[in-house]
Amino acid sequence: MAQEEIIPDEIKKVIKETFLESLKEEVVLEVYTQKDKNGQFNDATINLVKALAELTDKLKVSFHAVGDEQSIKRNVTRSPTVLIAPDKYRMRYTGAPLGEEGRSFLIAIMMASTGKGLLTEPIAKKIFAELREKRDIQVFVSPTCPYCPQQVLSAFSAAIVKPDLVSAEAVEIYENQDLAESLGSLAVPQTFMNGTFTGAGLQPEPWFVESLLSLKEPQVASTQISGEPIEKDLVIVGGGPAGLTTAIYAVRAGLNSILIEKSNIGGQVMITPVVENYPGFMRIGGKSLVDLIAQQAAQYSEIHVGEFVTEVEKDRPDNRIRIKTNHAIYITKALVIATGVGNRALDASGAQKFYGRGVSYCATCDGYFFKDGKQVVVVGGGNTAITDALYLHNIGAKVTLIHRRDSLRAESRLQESFNHSGITTLWNSEVKEISGDKIVKAVKVEDKQTGKVKDMAVDGVFVAIGYVPNIDLAKQLGLELDDQGYIKTDLATMRTSMPNVYAAGDITGAPKQIVVAVAHGSIAAMTAFEDLTSTTWLSVEKAAEAVRVS
Ligand code: NAP
Repeated sequence: MAQEEIIPDEIKKVIKETFLESLKEEVVLEVYTQKDKNGQFNDATINLVKALAELTDKLKVSFHAVGDEQSIKRNVTRSPTVLIAPDKYRMRYTGAPLGEEGRSFLIAIMMASTGKGLLTEPIAKKIFAELREKRDIQVFVSPTCPYCPQQVLSAFSAAIVKPDLVSAEAVEIYENQDLAESLGSLAVPQTFMNGTFTGAGLQPEPWFVESLLSLKEPQVASTQISGEPIEKDLVIVGGGPAGLTTAIYAVRAGLNSILIEKSNIGGQVMITPVVENYPGFMRIGGKSLVDLIAQQAAQYSEIHVGEFVTEVEKDRPDNRIRIKTNHAIYITKALVIATGVGNRALDASGAQKFYGRGVSYCATCDGYFFKDGKQVVVVGGGNTAITDALYLHNIGAKVTLIHRRDSLRAESRLQESFNHSGITTLWNSEVKEISGDKIVKAVKVEDKQTGKVKDMAVDGVFVAIGYVPNIDLAKQLGLELDDQGYIKTDLATMRTSMPNVYAAGDITGAPKQIVVAVAHGSIAAMTAFEDLTSTTWLSVEKAAEAVRVS
């Protein structure tokens, strides 16, 4: 690949203005490659680093061979490897810092230059004060995983806070398949510390720090909350498109609002490879779309990531709602629940055991590993299954769709693309068992018409069989649910069965479309504003009563 192609000119300009011009101290980058290993990734890494170095005199780059004296001194054995400021910090990419990791790479350079990580001050202080032992952090990543860069940057930030004790490494699983397979780490991001598994997925800061200190998967419990309760007009729970849009509308209407999100901003859309039905965009990556919505929401509202509700109390004499989270107590006049849905789990033996070891619910995140003709099955027949099957097929995996009926329920546009793709389908079939050793090796598939069970050798199982609503909060409040378990909601107002409590997005059981979720968010905020400024409590109670009897 020619050097000038790796970063297009218009992106170079943005990188220069956004990142490289704010570099303070000089940063040394050392690139290590081995001729016969990961050739195209070596070339891409060398070209990327050279191209960046041409944009600023603050980057000092050098290139080495794996096996040479310098690589032995730095303990580098894999190709490509990039070390960032290796005389000061221990931060490395094992594998090319490309795709989504391109972002973390630039931020990591900036962090090394300024000596400042991304962790919030209390968390950084906690690490500084409480970490006493050595930690070697490995985060397994792929270039298509939208959650990975943030987890990598948490690890790098810890390496900056405690350079004497913490080393941090982003390991790209496709280029280091032996390493990923030996640890059974086929889902990304996955984090290991001192060789011990400490968590799947992107961990909010408090979880990350807990696992860093304890070397265990975090058991985040309700912590002691000190300080006065915080008064709010509106608390929004859930950071997908519905919650984010609620925040935009609520603050613009003048409501003192806060949005809390347990894990990651973005919701399901974050992992949708391509969105083609959101008006205004012919075709846009799910992550790009939700990033735009999140940026806009952050202009208006406080957004707390990693914060979740532990207790909620409604029947107060002042008609307010008391919400206790892992960080604070809020006394709020109104509440919007936009907690969305979680994946429906595949009920096959071995499905849980091999989760993250070849069983995946996120084709965007985990598919890259399988791109060179690995055998995968996709289970399901809806929009998600077909989108995932096409995505995996297009990147080069050998895909078989397994569907329990004889026809798909996906929209016709997707079915057309699917029919043209030549992807094999096993109709009227169910996955009964998933087996393997450290990672998935085979599935047993039952033909429901004949009852025959056949074995298929596979490397991966992608499950896309729908969703289940996240209704813990609704249950705690005693909200009425419909017969599918979704929150009963008046879709013209987004009121629930309880006065001043609203629901928005997938949690309502309405069609799971981004455009529906954002519409719900706007309506919920406008109704909340109306209800809070209306002079008669009676009318709000009456409206909730209407939802209860509907
Ligand atoms: P879905 O539409 O509910 O489809 C789930 C699929 O999984 C169905 O084909 C279903 O089979 C099958 N299934 C359910 N339970 C199963 C089980 N226990 N074992 C095996 N198969 C099972 O779910 P989805 O495809 O994830 O879509 C969810 C929502 O998101 C939909 O409203 C969809 O429109 C929306 N979405 C939209 C887009 C888009 O607009 N491009 C993209 C993704 C998702 P049956 O058909 O037999 O019921």
